[in-house]
Amino acid sequence: MVKTPVYLDYHATTPVDPRVVQAMLPYFTERFGNPSSRTHRFGQDAAAAVDRARSQVARLVGARAAEIVFTSGATESNNLAIKGVVAGGRGRSDHVVTVVTEHHAVLDVCRQLERDGLRVTYLPVRRDGLVDLDRVREAVGPGTLLVSVMTANNEIGVVQPVAEIARLAHECGALVHTDAAQAAGKIPVDVGTLGVDLLSFTAHKMYGPKGVGALYVRRGVRLAPLIDGGGQERGLRPGTLNVPGIVGFGEAAELCRAEVATEGERLRRLRDRLLAGVRDRVGDVVVNGSLEARLPHNLNVSFPGVEGESLLLALGDLALSTGAACASGTTAPSHVLTALGLPEALARASLRFGLGRWTTEEEIDYAVERLATVVSKLGPRGRRAG
Ligand SMILES: *Cc1c(COP(=O)(O)O)cnc(C)c1O
Repeated sequence: MVKTPVYLDYHATTPVDPRVVQAMLPYFTERFGNPSSRTHRFGQDAAAAVDRARSQVARLVGARAAEIVFTSGATESNNLAIKGVVAGGRGRSDHVVTVVTEHHAVLDVCRQLERDGLRVTYLPVRRDGLVDLDRVREAVGPGTLLVSVMTANNEIGVVQPVAEIARLAHECGALVHTDAAQAAGKIPVDVGTLGVDLLSFTAHKMYGPKGVGALYVRRGVRLAPLIDGGGQERGLRPGTLNVPGIVGFGEAAELCRAEVATEGERLRRLRDRLLAGVRDRVGDVVVNGSLEARLPHNLNVSFPGVEGESLLLALGDLALSTGAACASGTTAPSHVLTALGLPEALARASLRFGLGRWTTEEEIDYAVERLATVVSKLGPRGRRAG
């Protein structure tokens, strides 16, 4: 028997891996030192733990340890990257390019900067959710300071051609930032291969604790800090470091790096089984976003004629969402799905499945069974029959 509710919302957050919890525990109690206290063993011990975690986190994305700035999460990393570049480069240029399907932690930063006089271009996406490189070519110019494009989307899981976009941006002298919160630890992410200058990621999306993240800042990139204080993290992010969280982030990164290939394959098979099951048992569904350029553990489908919210209500034993956690509870359809050109009714008829480390085949089969039952009741045919 499957234990319910079945968690299929791994894009919103992930449980902390018990191995990560074990690594963190000593740093709450006996190893509680402040890493800035250089004069005694407690501080030196904490500093050594942070150094080790910094190397583990850096290795996950192919960076040097010195290029990692610890933050409170991807929201803060995105803010630091975008506002930091703009504040550090003011006067030289005043234009930022991003994409309509970005997370609110990028879009809302850009909206705020627009109010302060910055020019922002929001690139459209194609029907498959991917950015068209021709649109990038048209948008970037000598006045462009920064191009910010997410690695993988948090709703539809599509993986953007970041390396190609970065090449075009660099030809114009712009810096490149990517929000890799959904990609890091799930697919190979390498700052060298991507060719990015800044990369945001967060522990709680990769089986680490909430409230800790990182910004990769390529050596030589000038950033202005968002807050002032004690000079930690090279002055870019002052404040006493969250040592247990950082240790957990390091351990989570190490585990993801070791398991990314096998776990990616396992989840791809489960995701494909889910899609095959839904197509077989429910029939009439629309997959939102490219299936090829996509995270292996994501599926986003619309069920024509059925309201996503009603589906969720009826599927109380499946922990799912219609879109981003931060946007759920609002009545507006997803900005990502409408950007694909989906009619509002179809955008409202969607479910986002996020599979993860503890998802089993039994859970997938259970989810398919439940979907088949509920959609046949709520769907257009079911309603006509009733
Ligand atoms: C979750 C998420 C964020 C926010 O990360 P926090 O660590 O919760 O601040 C930003 N961008 C994307 C793409 C995300 O999925």
